[in-house]
Amino acid sequence: MTPTRREFLKIAGFSALGLALSSGLALSAVKTGTASAVAPLAAGTPVPLRPLHARCWAMAVDMRKCRPDCTDCLVACHGAHNVPDFGNPKDDVHWIGRAPLPQVFPAGAHPRLPESIRGLSVPVLCNHCENPPCVRVCPTQATFKRADGIVMMDYHRCIGCRFCMAACPYGARSMNYRDPRPFIARLNPDFPTRTKGVVEKCNFCEERLARGILPACVTACKEKALVFGDLEDPRSDVRLILDRGLSLRRRPELGTEPQIYYLL
Ligand code: SF4
Repeated sequence: MTPTRREFLKIAGFSALGLALSSGLALSAVKTGTASAVAPLAAGTPVPLRPLHARCWAMAVDMRKCRPDCTDCLVACHGAHNVPDFGNPKDDVHWIGRAPLPQVFPAGAHPRLPESIRGLSVPVLCNHCENPPCVRVCPTQATFKRADGIVMMDYHRCIGCRFCMAACPYGARSMNYRDPRPFIARLNPDFPTRTKGVVEKCNFCEERLARGILPACVTACKEKALVFGDLEDPRSDVRLILDRGLSLRRRPELGTEPQIYYLL
């Protein structure tokens, strides 16, 4: 049945009102940070499918494929998350970086290691520890562990006490000693920036997982050296690669149970 002109105008009016309300609500939600715990994605990010879930997210770093001169993962991660570059090591803020193998695995380093192994520069990031000391010491619960194993930061609750930095044995956290905003090379308006006095670190790209997309570092790695998935799923990529050979975790003697596994 064809609607009359009066009915048509009524329908159009309601539609326009609905659109205005929904976009207005969305805008105010983003402004106040109440949209959800999940930040929006950068413009141009592939259209999401559905959220990725896991019982325990984990990553394998395949050092047999990782190129020592490559910074693709770092560039992708820091670009996606508005990580500032202050240009000096004193103020350094990082979510992912590289460190010499003897520093990453001090217990396994010895003078007889072949140079090809000893000279490796290893990607390092938050280990999303199963037993995270950073979470235990945080007085405001600004850092907390999700049911799927991701160790999160709530920037609004962080009071900059740096107890978490002292507790983390891996140096995975950074403090913004200065206002980071002028030092963000290219602002991603779809991810929150931080302020002076706030601690930050890798979040396993929870904002991407919520939209069905793998972490930025994983998708940026052309060599497929970073493998991500559900440790509890025997068919997941991360389980399949771990099942194939020896893997190491950082400082296992500390009992933190890191969820980053290294294949050498
Ligand atoms: Fe916390 Fe450090 Fe473990 Fe990350 S690596 S969960 S910051 S203790």
